[in-house]
Amino acid sequence: PSPLPYIGRFAPSPTGPLHQGSLVAAMASYLDAKVHGGQWLVRIEDVDEDRNVAGADRHILASLQRCGMQWDGEVTWQTQRYAFYETVLAQLGQHVYPCGCSRREIQDSQLRLQAAGAAPHAGLVYPGTCRNGLAPGKTARALRLRTPQQPHCVIAFQDRWHGQVSQDITAEVGDFVIRRADGFWAYQLAVVADDGAQGITDIVRGADLLDSTPRQLYLQALLGLPQPRYLHVPVVLAESGEKLSKQTGAQAFDDGVPAAALLHSALLPAARFLGLHLAANDIDDFWRRAVPAWEQLLRERLQEGA
Ligand code: GLU
Repeated sequence: PSPLPYIGRFAPSPTGPLHQGSLVAAMASYLDAKVHGGQWLVRIEDVDEDRNVAGADRHILASLQRCGMQWDGEVTWQTQRYAFYETVLAQLGQHVYPCGCSRREIQDSQLRLQAAGAAPHAGLVYPGTCRNGLAPGKTARALRLRTPQQPHCVIAFQDRWHGQVSQDITAEVGDFVIRRADGFWAYQLAVVADDGAQGITDIVRGADLLDSTPRQLYLQALLGLPQPRYLHVPVVLAESGEKLSKQTGAQAFDDGVPAAALLHSALLPAARFLGLHLAANDIDDFWRRAVPAWEQLLRERLQEGA
């Protein structure tokens, strides 16, 4: 085991069973924790209560165990931590303000700004309408985090897979939501609060979250939390080219599949997707071989990047 402390995590949203895409993220975070002799925690990110599917959390946990991925410590559920998120919100103090804008209004103002020559953005950029107080006639809906305007809030970090990544939050995102209009905590606030509280040192997850990381780094800095290391692995795409998810037709990989077959139908393909070309006799044998293979793969990536 390495002398450096390492606490990693897998943080699935219980919107459906584990599928080939989420298995890849679980596997990468698990392997990285094992390579470092670290802990691997599992946190159920169920703050988006409208999207939770009853029983999906238990299904995910059972799938992880069937695949031989045993977590350390107790599983946590974000819906049990709302009082804690309130204290984190309070710490943010004057950086937070209520916003009364609807999505439609933000879209309309973005179109107006673009018509006037502003650079187009893939995502919706909040124009700051309510930053200096709710516009007359509006009622508070969401809570937003103020981002510095001058100079812009530009956050750069070193990703262990992608190398240097940087984002101008001010220009590309704007003041972002930390509590949603429907009253639910936003992913960005909950994930930063929990990663901090659980002492997470290393975040290994899908590259679909790469553009959330600068917001999370900014929140960590405001809250005085240490900055974890990051590694964003490629995401499995559906045939349509979208991220594989329940919405794009992902199937649970282990329903009715005998444990012995999981190796060939799920684990080996997920490993291959990550770039690990392995042969294994059984699930235990798979992990014995996958851990050093992951270490080797990371070493090679590091050398290529150097
Ligand atoms: N809950 C998020 C998801 O399932 C992952 C969050 C994270 O790893 O930071 O997409």
